[in-house]
Amino acid sequence: MTRHLALACALACGCRELPEVTHEGQHVRIAVDPGLELCAGSVAHMDEFVALLSAELGLEAPTDDDRLLAYWLERDEFVARTACEEGADGCARNGVFFARLLPMNHEFVHTVAAPLGRSLSFFSEGLATAYQGLGAGIDADEAPLLDPIEPLLRAPTNKLFGIAGGYPHAGAFVAFLIRTHGLDAYLRVVDDIGLAADVDDIDRAFVAGFGASLAELVREFNVASNRCAHPAYDAKLVECAAPELSWRDGRIAEQRPIACDQPDAVGPYGGNVVVVFRTVTIPDAGEYTVELFGDSTANKLALRSCGGCDSEPTLTLRAGSPATTVWLDAGRHTLRLFGAVDQRTSLGVRITPAGAP
Ligand SMILES: [Zn+2]
Repeated sequence: MTRHLALACALACGCRELPEVTHEGQHVRIAVDPGLELCAGSVAHMDEFVALLSAELGLEAPTDDDRLLAYWLERDEFVARTACEEGADGCARNGVFFARLLPMNHEFVHTVAAPLGRSLSFFSEGLATAYQGLGAGIDADEAPLLDPIEPLLRAPTNKLFGIAGGYPHAGAFVAFLIRTHGLDAYLRVVDDIGLAADVDDIDRAFVAGFGASLAELVREFNVASNRCAHPAYDAKLVECAAPELSWRDGRIAEQRPIACDQPDAVGPYGGNVVVVFRTVTIPDAGEYTVELFGDSTANKLALRSCGGCDSEPTLTLRAGSPATTVWLDAGRHTLRLFGAVDQRTSLGVRITPAGAP
């Protein structure tokens, strides 16, 4: 398949051949163009993502010759070499994906879910958005999603992509259906809907599988989820399974270097961002003081609950920000620590219950 794709590309556009596999993981194989470089923890991160998502979807994680293949290619000639849509940062074709940027777990959702069969763009992009994770997204818009769902349901991928909020909106609705009716029921209904469905077919499949009409579910979604943006509804599979920082002497304190060549450093997101994934468990809901020390403006942290739609918005701190006291829900939180690919930086984080001596 790969060789066929490469050949087809070379014949079709006379452009450079696709690169050979450069990184072998347990569940993924990555082929990158010369000159592009992954941070040291990226392949392990992608392996873990594929394993967690496969388990979530009730699928065997692919191994050996079935491992998922991802190409990370230069921007020049990207469309000609891949047949991805103009303007897209990546696309999945027959279980293989092509990306202008890695890591990009959104495309891994498409390739992991490929054995479930094809579905309307709204549902496949919705699933990919609901499970893609937070990656290096730090200024995500947590504003309400209030536009109507119905016009999006049968929109093709390029139209969905072109509508402001199209993907996050599809993700929000899919996450809502999964949250309220379970993943198994959701997958059965989407399978039932098929590729040629019109809105009436979707309505019939919803009634049969969810026991509620499309209009009823959209109404329920608008009430229940209109404050639930992507960082809240995303499954955060890897983010919330990351190594946990422990409490010592009544506080969490971590000091460490951040650089692309560290074994747990994932990147380069967007070409230059390095992220280290950690979790912390907040024992009791209440006010906590969070501090970040860093020696570069690239050093940031993002802290948010692993809970869903009712959780507090993400707390973001940048090096140089003053200590911040915020309300934190009890339970597990994802803590992402940021640096830059072209810098070796050092970063410290401290979390203390407010009012502690
Ligand atoms: Zn997609």
